Amino acid sequence: MNLPIKQLKKEPGMAFPFSGQIELPPIAHGGTVMAQGSRVTFHGRAVYQGGKVHLTLALKAEVERECSRCLAHFTQTVEKEEEITLREEHEVRLEDDDFTYPDEAEEVAIEPYLQSLILSALGPKPLCAPDCRGLCPSCGVNLNEEEHHPDCPALRPEVDPRLAQLLDLL
Ligand SMILES: [Zn+2]
Ligand SMILES: [Zn+2]
Repeated sequence: MNLPIKQLKKEPGMAFPFSGQIELPPIAHGGTVMAQGSRVTFHGRAVYQGGKVHLTLALKAEVERECSRCLAHFTQTVEKEEEITLREEHEVRLEDDDFTYPDEAEEVAIEPYLQSLILSALGPKPLCAPDCRGLCPSCGVNLNEEEHHPDCPALRPEVDPRLAQLLDLL
């Protein structure tokens, strides 16, 4: 969905209401995939005033995530409502992380702003359940679903796992 910037500029102070539903592609941050995909319902309004676009945006997203312990996929619900000010790129100093849109743009896609609101609501270490047991670092099984392999060093807690590997070689 696009915000009609050119039209908003023609009628300063007039609210442009919008709403929609969209599926977003994976969202990455700092080299990590934070969301595998998101189904987003959103609504809001945009007003052009004082040389800026003021955006009120509310969203509800079903975000598909990967558990940081067991790698299983699960759905996290994100609800977020925020007021955002969009400035033309040339107005913003480089160190600012304000929201911008390209100078002289006639229309601006809403997706990047939806993505960034979702990202701001996602924790860095997603868990499928608070008590997820994760993958065994020694035998690799998903401990939520199975027990350790019979010869897993983790079953011999009295022996240091590194020593256990040496013993296996003998
Ligand atoms: Zn998990
Ligand atoms: Zn194990």
